[in-house]
Amino acid sequence: MIDTVGLAGRHAVVIGAGIAGLVAARVLADHVEHVTLLERDRPSPEEGARRGTPQARHVHLLLAGGSQVVERFFPGMDEELAAAGAPGGDCGLRSIMHFPACRMPRRRLGFEMRFASRLLRESLLRDHLARDARITLREGALVRGLLGDGRRVTGVRLRPSEGGEEALRADLVVAACGRDAPLVAWLEELGHGAPREEIVNAHLSYASRWYRTRSADTRDWDMAFDMPTPPHHRRGGVAMRHEGGRWLVTLGGIAGSPAPTGDAEFVSWARSLRVPEIHGLLQDAEPISTLHGFARTENRRRHFEQMASLPDRLVVLGDAVAAFNPIYGQGMSVAALGAQELDTCLREQRAPKGAPDLDGLSRRFQRRLALLTEMPWQFAIGEDFRWPETAGERPGAVQRALHAYSDRVMQLAEDDAEAGRTFMRVLHLIDPAAALFRPSIAARVLERATWPALATACRAVLAKT
Ligand SMILES: Cc1cc2nc3c(=O)[nH]c(=O)nc-3n(C[C@H](O)[C@H](O)[C@H](O)COP(=O)(O)OP(=O)(O)OC[C@H]3O[C@@H](n4cnc5c(N)ncnc54)[C@H](O)[C@@H]3O)c2cc1C
Repeated sequence: MIDTVGLAGRHAVVIGAGIAGLVAARVLADHVEHVTLLERDRPSPEEGARRGTPQARHVHLLLAGGSQVVERFFPGMDEELAAAGAPGGDCGLRSIMHFPACRMPRRRLGFEMRFASRLLRESLLRDHLARDARITLREGALVRGLLGDGRRVTGVRLRPSEGGEEALRADLVVAACGRDAPLVAWLEELGHGAPREEIVNAHLSYASRWYRTRSADTRDWDMAFDMPTPPHHRRGGVAMRHEGGRWLVTLGGIAGSPAPTGDAEFVSWARSLRVPEIHGLLQDAEPISTLHGFARTENRRRHFEQMASLPDRLVVLGDAVAAFNPIYGQGMSVAALGAQELDTCLREQRAPKGAPDLDGLSRRFQRRLALLTEMPWQFAIGEDFRWPETAGERPGAVQRALHAYSDRVMQLAEDDAEAGRTFMRVLHLIDPAAALFRPSIAARVLERATWPALATACRAVLAKT
């Protein structure tokens, strides 16, 4: 329990009520007296079609690591999703998974997944915040710039829904304004320059459509996916059961293979996947939405932590810092983990029985976020660089060796339950990547790779642990 002495008068502003902003607002409520969450959109009556988050029309899988963070700050969220009809269960039993290097057998993995639309997740998170008197959500509030000087940010300039312009003062500003990050221009306006940006683009495009099955749905799985596999299998797809008994099917083409654009092509494309269950579902279902495409899927990372001049009292998180190729399903989880890291930093900066010292927070937080982002970033760009068409700065030999190793773990995972569980826990951001190098796994990988001397060495380590 946080001691609230010393929070009096402190105000934080969060820009953007996407997943990063919603979790960050909840986190900040424990550290300042009041939080204002500013969102330019109003909720749309149409399914998932808020202007600021067009990606919500496509499958949004929250990895177990992200889900655990959300549950920590929004206790009861999983039960609420279940009560709203979102299916779920053990990840390994409820999913059919075709990875590039293996088709994972259906077996218990020991952690749960909840399959829900992005819209439902967002609306339940908002409901939680609406019940919290420490937080005000202002919709239709477009932030147009930052207040401040060369040293620190003191608030934001915004256009409220009623029109005009307003200056909103804040002791801390959190920018969670998404992939397009208008924040970069605002920093330049204040004379701070722009952060270094990395872009790696595997040219993935998506097409998605909602379905309802015609007959009683007796499938014993909730999600089936086929990941594209270099060098030739450039098509992928996922079918995910959602609340309300509906299915969302997202098909994707990568590395120069565009996603399908028409009805007939959508179905024939699904037939070409290596997971026949996806096409089988389409045969038994009727579309209940139009087809939506999306192609802004490049990995984009902004190194705020390296800026020579980063103003104090400003932190940036979510897609505004690192947006990932969505095929790996990491974005919402990394956003939630980033908000959790903010909580840790604020706790560490607290004087005994007092409020956190906000000076120096910006750089400290951005550095810590950069460390946290490194693993998912390397994973996403590493996978993308397996395609020769991928644009960006290519990784070196160490990275290639790591790929070869992780492929072997994946292959091992097919018939080795421990390797399968570890691989999936790393993929779901529950465990760090180092878990893949545990001697018990490394020994079996090296054995299969016919590197028996190394395998023996690993066993020797294992015997001592
Ligand atoms: C096609 C696609 C599929 C995806 N699938 C997955 C998936 O399966 N799993 C997963 O974890 N992630 C997925 N993602 C990524 C995921 O959508 C994001 O990583 C996640 O939403 C976190 O983003 P965010 O909150 O930082 O930004 P966003 O969700 O983009 O939210 C930013 C918010 O800021 C608001 N905003 C922007 N500018 C302003 C301003 N000036 N003033 C006020 N408000 C402003 C916007 O309206 C928006 O609401 C996918 C992304 C795409 C593109």
